[in-house]
Amino acid sequence: MANPVDTLGHCRPTARLILSTPDPRSVARLRYAFSAYAALHGIRVVDDDSADVTVAHGDVDTAVQVRLPAGYRLRPDTEPAPPPVQVDGMPCFHLAPSGEPDVLGEVFEWLAAPHERASTELDDIGRIPPEHTLAGTHGLDRRVPWANRWLARLHRAVRTALPGLPGSPPSPFGASRTFVASHDMDHLSSRRLVNGHRVLKNVGVAVAGRRDLRTGAAILGAAARRTVHGRPTIVGVADLLAGEAARGVRATYTVVAESTHRRDPGYRLDDDFVRHTLADIAEAGHELAVHGSYRSLEVPGQLEHEYALLADAGFPATGGRQHWLRHRGGELFAALERAGAEWDSTYGHPDLVGYRHGAAFPFLPYDLDRERARPVVEIPMVVMERALCTAGSRPADWAATATEVLRAAGDDGWGGTAVLWHDYAFPGAALPAGLAETYWAVLDAGDHWVTAAEVAAATRTRWADAGALTGLPGRT
Ligand SMILES: [Zn+2]
Repeated sequence: MANPVDTLGHCRPTARLILSTPDPRSVARLRYAFSAYAALHGIRVVDDDSADVTVAHGDVDTAVQVRLPAGYRLRPDTEPAPPPVQVDGMPCFHLAPSGEPDVLGEVFEWLAAPHERASTELDDIGRIPPEHTLAGTHGLDRRVPWANRWLARLHRAVRTALPGLPGSPPSPFGASRTFVASHDMDHLSSRRLVNGHRVLKNVGVAVAGRRDLRTGAAILGAAARRTVHGRPTIVGVADLLAGEAARGVRATYTVVAESTHRRDPGYRLDDDFVRHTLADIAEAGHELAVHGSYRSLEVPGQLEHEYALLADAGFPATGGRQHWLRHRGGELFAALERAGAEWDSTYGHPDLVGYRHGAAFPFLPYDLDRERARPVVEIPMVVMERALCTAGSRPADWAATATEVLRAAGDDGWGGTAVLWHDYAFPGAALPAGLAETYWAVLDAGDHWVTAAEVAAATRTRWADAGALTGLPGRT
């Protein structure tokens, strides 16, 4: 029987995974990791003899074309990952008795992040700090997408059985690399007093906090120039809309629908300036999404309420990102599922560029309580503008640094990850001015840009075909 062909005309190969372990939790986890492989490569997962390629994990009785070493070890939820062993320059957490790495076990360790769940250390914002992630604890380079590297190793093994498969993961967008540009709107006010206060606060952060007199002076100068020209000193949405229109780029803008904490923006959806701004963004063809407020995961039902508020205001959203990237893992996705959201883009760090979960691709996070993939697409946030200031590069190198990190998967990925530039980076009255030019240089570097909703839709289809959402025929 001919294999189905996807919308881009690619032939859809099929694969089957047979596991030697009888343990149901290990089975669920390793199948999830195999779904990540299949989804990245646009392969359909089946559970019968019709498969183009059959892969065994461990020793099984069936005749198979590919055998993977089995070394995955379950550990208690409270136990962090032990230090990795280096094999072929790769950090390994799950070695088979033969000394070879268990590729599926390694992929699970990165994507599902049981290590983060075992972390009890939170920062003063209530987040798991970067030093307690898998990469942070074990000193692993976040600019290397380790999960992509493991999946590439698995793909090389599968290609020995099916040499006709493309060497690189085919993009669902037909472009070689596709990314998401996103903007969290943390200030939306036309009131001079509010904005003036914010400008002074930014000067204080630069001068007293970072001892950066030059940026402090530049912020005051930029604010003065914007005021003379009657333009908002802190809100850069109009600047973004103009630059993105000129490039034909559609982006994702996130909105705090309700402020309930002093660390929230404080703007209201019924404010005229806010409503006009959101209408301008939507009219220009961009996506509006939810920026989950500071306490949105603490107050029962709050995140769902914020989705409803934005929809009631005429801007229904299919996903979002948490303000301050504030979350501890599972509770975020449980709330998103209740809200009916389809995607999230919170996984990342505010002051560090790179791959928190080793994944330079969008994925379905794993529910460690229910032992299954969650039905919400995570779009890893790889570069937040402010992190470039501490990434060790000169302003002139910021754009190259950002593009290099985004493209770090090389031939082992097609993209599907996000950058975050706050609109307030554009008037020059909040962050170093070079960050605005850096954004335009990143957009002009030759990659393809789509909205988060578009990445989520393509990713969900692939993971569904990879058997992650509905389970496989014959599975209990
Ligand atoms: Zn925010």
